[in-house]
Amino acid sequence: MFVISTLATREPTEVDMDLLIERLRDAHPDAACALRHENPFQLLVATILSAQCTDERVNKVTPVLFARFPDAESMKAADPKEIEEIIRSTGFYHNKTKAIRGAAERIVAAYQGRVPARMEDLLTLPGVARKTANVVLGVGYHVADGIVVDTHVFRVSRRLGLTRAETPIQVEQDLMKIVPRPEWIEFAHLLIFHGRRVCAARSPQCGVCTVQDLCPSAPLFLNGKARNAKKAGKVRKAGKKPPKPRKPPKSRPTRKPKPARRPKRKVARAAARKKRGR
Ligand code: SF4
Repeated sequence: MFVISTLATREPTEVDMDLLIERLRDAHPDAACALRHENPFQLLVATILSAQCTDERVNKVTPVLFARFPDAESMKAADPKEIEEIIRSTGFYHNKTKAIRGAAERIVAAYQGRVPARMEDLLTLPGVARKTANVVLGVGYHVADGIVVDTHVFRVSRRLGLTRAETPIQVEQDLMKIVPRPEWIEFAHLLIFHGRRVCAARSPQCGVCTVQDLCPSAPLFLNGKARNAKKAGKVRKAGKKPPKPRKPPKSRPTRKPKPARRPKRKVARAAARKKRGR
């Protein structure tokens, strides 16, 4: 049993991790990595492609990509234009091609064409950060070195009150403290499936959620307070920067007073004559 507090409620909450995992397991017995792959290299490439893209879309392009370039050696020698053409529909295809080819080059040069199975080595590959490395280690090698924190894990773990952290790295650190290590790999799959199917970003289905009684955010969503709190700026969306304060409207420059007009020469002379009494 862990006592934590949530961003939404700010109240201390008791979380029974065993019960939470059991309930999620019952609700999502099929929770697993959805990216199709046949070896750690293909998993690495598919995970790089899944950035800002659905797994479904990635699974449509990878069969073509892997039929053409099945391993690091062939991917390293590939024409970037050809890779770009195949993966174009996953978005950011220029950067993704660079990362895939860069990773393949390093895997061939430093690891004899085999994807390394250690976090510190994986993090040296271009385009690979902790999330991708955790996917490769957990799914590809069944090594629990950390917990995958993608957009779903980030959102759902905060709503469940498991963390109040503001960055994926911090969320991972918090989860690693409270989730038993043997559950790390499965726990991420469970939260990803729960986030996709039930605890959606815009409209969480708290009414039918299997962990509603364990979730401190449920009452807020069920009676609409979460939305009002967000409107009032009390609950900031995960990962979003606070809005910039508005600049005060520019005041108009004040006009300079016009200099007094000089009397015309003729008028001035007449005035002078009058003064002299002529
Ligand atoms: S109760 Fe609602 S907010 Fe909590 S996990 Fe379930 S769907 Fe998400």
